[in-house]
Amino acid sequence: MKTKIKKELKVKRSLAGLGLFADEPIKKGEFVIEYIGKILTREEADRKGGKYLFEISSRRTVNGSGRDNVARYINHSCKPNCEVDIKKGRIFIYALRSIKVGEELNYDYGEEYVDEYIKPYGCKCKPCVKK
Ligand SMILES: [Zn+2]
Repeated sequence: MKTKIKKELKVKRSLAGLGLFADEPIKKGEFVIEYIGKILTREEADRKGGKYLFEISSRRTVNGSGRDNVARYINHSCKPNCEVDIKKGRIFIYALRSIKVGEELNYDYGEEYVDEYIKPYGCKCKPCVKK
């Protein structure tokens, strides 16, 4: 499967390791990128574990650890500029507000992920680091 990328994006260093940055202006509400990967059942996902599992329903999870899934570089933020929309088992990422060239993209990973993978190490998103 090929990543459906709508906008020009760049992978660069960020506060939390690598991140995905806008390489052209993105308007509020615009489709940015699809998060792609193999669809796993709940059992397969539990067995596999890891950071790139994206739950799309109570029964199905997308394994986004593949190299072609550029969207996996998008980091978590507590004050994100993107949001996720799950439609028919696919994960689409949209701009929550207008985004300038060079701005890092992020979305809220959700409580469960944050509690498990982020809180133990301290959140590295901009609003949290500034505090
Ligand atoms: Zn944060």
